[in-house]
Amino acid sequence: MLTTLKRIVQEVNSAADLGSALTILVSRVQAAMGTEVCSIYLFNPESRRYVLMATKGLNAEAVGRVSLAPNEGVVGLVAQREEPINLDDASSHPRYLYLSETGEEVYNSFLGVPIIHHRRILGVLVVQQRAKRKFDESEEAFMVTMSAQLAAVLAHAEASGQVLGFDQTSQSNTKPARDVLVPGVPGSPGVAIGKVVVISHKADLYGVPDKTIKDSAEEVRRFQAAIDGARSQIRKVGEALADLRPEERALFDVYIRMLDDDALGNEVIRRIEEHKQWAQGALRDVILGYVAHFERMDDAYLRERATDIKDLGARVLAQLQESVELAPEFPENTILVSDELTPAMLGEVPESKLKGLVSVKGSANSHVAILARAMGIPAVMGAIDLPVKQLDGLQMVVDGYRGRLFTHPSKRLRTQFQAIVEEEKAFVKGFEALKDLPAQTTDGHRIRLMVNTGLITDAVRSKDRGAEGVGLYRTEIPFMMGERFPSETEQANIYRQQLETFAPNPVTMRTLDIGGDKSLPYFPIEEENPFLGWRGIRVTLDHPEIFLLQVRAMLKASIGLNNLQIMLPMITTISEVEEAQHLIYRAYQEVRNDGFDVQMPKIGVMIEVPAAVYLARQLAQMVDFLSVGSNDLTQYLLAVDRNNPRVADLYDAFHPAVLNALQRIVNDGHQEGKPVSVCGEMASHPSGALLLMAMGFDSLSMNATNLPRVKSVLRAIDMPWAKALLEEVMGIDNPQIIASMVELALERRGMGRFIRPGS
Ligand code: PEP
Ligand code: MG
Repeated sequence: MLTTLKRIVQEVNSAADLGSALTILVSRVQAAMGTEVCSIYLFNPESRRYVLMATKGLNAEAVGRVSLAPNEGVVGLVAQREEPINLDDASSHPRYLYLSETGEEVYNSFLGVPIIHHRRILGVLVVQQRAKRKFDESEEAFMVTMSAQLAAVLAHAEASGQVLGFDQTSQSNTKPARDVLVPGVPGSPGVAIGKVVVISHKADLYGVPDKTIKDSAEEVRRFQAAIDGARSQIRKVGEALADLRPEERALFDVYIRMLDDDALGNEVIRRIEEHKQWAQGALRDVILGYVAHFERMDDAYLRERATDIKDLGARVLAQLQESVELAPEFPENTILVSDELTPAMLGEVPESKLKGLVSVKGSANSHVAILARAMGIPAVMGAIDLPVKQLDGLQMVVDGYRGRLFTHPSKRLRTQFQAIVEEEKAFVKGFEALKDLPAQTTDGHRIRLMVNTGLITDAVRSKDRGAEGVGLYRTEIPFMMGERFPSETEQANIYRQQLETFAPNPVTMRTLDIGGDKSLPYFPIEEENPFLGWRGIRVTLDHPEIFLLQVRAMLKASIGLNNLQIMLPMITTISEVEEAQHLIYRAYQEVRNDGFDVQMPKIGVMIEVPAAVYLARQLAQMVDFLSVGSNDLTQYLLAVDRNNPRVADLYDAFHPAVLNALQRIVNDGHQEGKPVSVCGEMASHPSGALLLMAMGFDSLSMNATNLPRVKSVLRAIDMPWAKALLEEVMGIDNPQIIASMVELALERRGMGRFIRPGS
């Protein structure tokens, strides 16, 4: 049963459009269930009715014509009750509605299951039979499993249909509607209007976007060169592995034969010539076509060959990608779209042209979103239903405030969003006067506002915005941009720029924090549960050579400036701090022995794991300062992956458990006489910053974009008011109510525009 299920889902998934997906679906389910009829009804939000979209067994002419309101028929009842209805004689059911066009009167038994995606009813899947019998439990279970698996596939196909112009109800290709809205998660505030450039991971066949070309002869030549390159590469790999057993060596011969075989190559060339498709796209179509074919085979050995074909395709693709001119043409207003944006991808577009970012995977707390906020580029994450591959060249509006996108924007919509862009520009200009004013409440309470940096460009921006130092320099960002670990001198140069930019103010450099969603292309870490795995300090303590080299580079960079602070990420255990301190002292001695006049920097620990919350006092005794990583602390306390758009609604730093933990950490740190700061994104939000200040945090570190906003709010309020508000919200159990209470309080004091710009 599982194999049948998988195969149907795969087939539906690889259908070209919604119409063919539904046709495949009904005929496969009808065959698998051995029934006479299988039909699917989808909810049409405009008419608010369930429309018969495909059928195997009922009159084909009824498709697209017959529909039911939610309060009509047994189909409507399945949707209303959100559970299966299994009847041996449907016509005797009180809700039965006779639809003459379908010819269904001859069928007696009926089993309908709802198709539900993220709590939303997409439609109803129905099987029917002449024989008067109830479907048995295993049949019902099959249908429920089928519909649960299909829900995501259909939701995606439906959204793609709207974006790409397949009219659901008529099942014909039409012009796409205007202002098609695709929901996502807010990644970085702001609005961008521009032209989509799709960027994919290197050598990922599934991520190759569609692009049309003018010169097919040139494209064919490029493809043939790539085939030659892949062939000699495979030969070389085979030769280098001298110890292979004959059966393993045979695999390489098979690969080479596949490449020599004209069939595959000719098919790709035909696609290039006929469809004016670029070589990567033609290769993708042909290889994935074969893959789908092999994956459907009953024989396990042949099914496995799908993996070989995929691998072969990826090798040819890698060759093609190498031959592409390195800098593709980026329009002046580029909206960079990818299945999974990475920090390194941002570096590929000239900053002046990069206007907006969109990622199908990831969430507001993914590192690429954090970086986008630092750079002030609007971003939408988790747009899971976006048909990325077909978007290249489209016009798009990115609404980073509310986490949504619009494709095919009408003139009216553009004008509306352009007005927001202008308003935001004027708003930011108003911040200039704030730059040199202290972050001080009306009753004189002073708090230090620092910035989070990663690139040198955002360091420069930060200074312009009045930052009083760096509370978190994510050293892994420059590591992500290269193709190998940076050398000690290369690191020292990068760190020196940061330290010089802010001197004499402190710059808090965090030691390399990789793992989780931050991987280095040249040091991949592949794990089932990366956020609970080899991350942060765990990696660097296992690789003291990397840690020592980094600390030496930091120390050398600080000569004469003496504004360096070192911070340790992902601390869970006291011994990790002891070991790290030991290594830092060792690096310090080595650098001094080499004749460099360096000072011992302050050392701090990040509190971002629940274990560290309960060890905060002991940790504070050991180090000079504590800094709360509220992004990870929220994820670990609430057991919500910060990167997963499906649970993005549950990720909330205003959850009472998080607020209680924060209050405890600051109290414990102060008991030991040590300063405590927050460098997670919570500090970047005016409401979050207000509560953190009221809790007693000494400094807040945030993205440069939001710093003036936070400063404006803190300068307009007084500490007793903030403390009273904190006390009030600490008694509330619902994070959303807490957020609304703080926003309302700020609004009442005339600060609404700082919390919800653009809305
Ligand atoms: C955090 O976890 O809050 C933090 C500041 O570090 P990062 O977001 O880089 O994990
Ligand atoms: Mg962290």
